Amino acid sequence: MKQYSDFRSDTVTRPTPKMREAMAQAEVGDDVLGDDPTVQKLESLAASIMGKEAGLFVPSGTMGNSIAIKVWTKELEEIILESRSHIFNMESTHLAFISRVLPRCLPSQRGAMDPEEVSSNVRQANVHIPQTSLICVENTHNNWSGAVVPLDNLKELRAVADEFGLKIHLDGARIFNASLASGISVKDYAAQADSVMFCLSKGLSAPVGSMLVGPSSFIEMARRVRKALGGGMRQVGVLAAAGIISLTEMVDRLQEDHRRARKFAEAIAPLPGIELDPSLIETNIVIFGFNHPRLSNIEFLAQLQEEGVLALPVGNGIRFVTHKDIDDNDVDRANEAFKTLLV
Ligand SMILES: *Cc1c(COP(=O)(O)O)cnc(C)c1O
Repeated sequence: MKQYSDFRSDTVTRPTPKMREAMAQAEVGDDVLGDDPTVQKLESLAASIMGKEAGLFVPSGTMGNSIAIKVWTKELEEIILESRSHIFNMESTHLAFISRVLPRCLPSQRGAMDPEEVSSNVRQANVHIPQTSLICVENTHNNWSGAVVPLDNLKELRAVADEFGLKIHLDGARIFNASLASGISVKDYAAQADSVMFCLSKGLSAPVGSMLVGPSSFIEMARRVRKALGGGMRQVGVLAAAGIISLTEMVDRLQEDHRRARKFAEAIAPLPGIELDPSLIETNIVIFGFNHPRLSNIEFLAQLQEEGVLALPVGNGIRFVTHKDIDDNDVDRANEAFKTLLV
């Protein structure tokens, strides 16, 4: 058995042999000078899959979101986002540090903000009040246990944005997970947003990189902001080559991750100390409350590690994520360890 079954994140995947081969063979140029053909191929592939005009390869999802917000906003403005969103909670301070905008966080039903509440929180500037300029949405929603935000909700938010002349940025780090779980195309989700960021380095298993897509004028400005943030990379076709494999060969297998996450959730839900409704697990992230008579979540995670199972705490709870390098044996190993340690 391998040393660890690593459920910490879907970012821990190793590149596939095909990715390594494509990286070795990649035709490259200087991408800052605009002549890396492999990067160009990845950028146009990403744009066409999402139904947008243009794409930009960025080193990380955090940089993609940072750039999008920088391009769509200016100082003295405010943006609306969901309270548990990755952008607000997990991306250091780029809203303040880079864009110098205020976040206005709203609650949600598993990631879906109430359109009326969003509408009543849009602010028109005066001397006291910042101007709202952007709404950010996240799909799937990481901190809501990988919940799929319904397309109808996004359409209603689009209508609010249009009424007030706001932009929408979709943090679609796991938009392909949302699409496979719901049967709705990524294009249909992307159509509700002005710009979309999605990650190649998560379930899609690329070693590095995320994509930002949107209108050509937006991507032109995004490219300038990426450079200003130090994200202009040279013979980066070696990385883009892996990203092309992500998009052409690694999407459909996300279904396997969803099936395993559900199987894991169903097995652990009845055990002492676990607070989890497995019917809510739609994709590859299983977040559950932990309230055990003998153990804290941190103590339990340390014991799991001794059994060869790795996961991360969230608050007083725990998060398990399935991905390419988790197979059915890993799930069985985790289930066995839970039974041994908790019962
Ligand atoms: C991981 C993640 C990001 C950021 O991606 P990095 O590549 O880790 O910077 C953004 N949004 C969501 C929802 C994520 O899960």
